[in-house]
Amino acid sequence: MTGRTHDLAAITALLVVVCIFAPVYNLNLATLLVALLANQIGGIIPDIDQPTAPLWRNLPIGRTVGRVFDKSVGGHRFITHSLLGIALFGFLFWALLNFLHPVMMSVDVMIVWWAFMIGILSHLVMDSFTKEGVPWLLPLPIKLGLPPVKALRITTGKAVETLLIFPGLVIVSGLLIAAHYNYLLQLLHHV
Ligand SMILES: [Zn+2]
Repeated sequence: MTGRTHDLAAITALLVVVCIFAPVYNLNLATLLVALLANQIGGIIPDIDQPTAPLWRNLPIGRTVGRVFDKSVGGHRFITHSLLGIALFGFLFWALLNFLHPVMMSVDVMIVWWAFMIGILSHLVMDSFTKEGVPWLLPLPIKLGLPPVKALRITTGKAVETLLIFPGLVIVSGLLIAAHYNYLLQLLHHV
């Protein structure tokens, strides 16, 4: 999947969770902003195993660092695209949040952490729809996909993604916002 599909998927997944499964109350502005940022970072972070990832592209010597990093994590769609990788990212991000907590006392780190994890999980689910599949169960070297039959899955950046998946995510987000408009409005009132 492309970066912009991942960005949109991360925010859509966040909307699904806060609108349907785990409504949030007592949200302040600092938490909201940091959580949105964490969600977007989570949505693209598994792709740091690609030298062409936005993170590396935007740093001065990023491509070189990216290439070295790519090799050290086993190449594209390896450890960063597995449950093991999710656990590692979750642990490191939790440590980072606790380290930063003294300078951002008003931020609810638990909400921010969940927003990040939802972003990462959305990334792996979205990549599972592509032909390449995702090695969810590493160190078991099998790539899984949705649907399991490879021929039915999509190719990154091709018509199905741009004409179906991306607009589909826009529609799902729009419907969620419309259906839960009052709740979301209330949430922002408390910010
Ligand atoms: Zn990916």
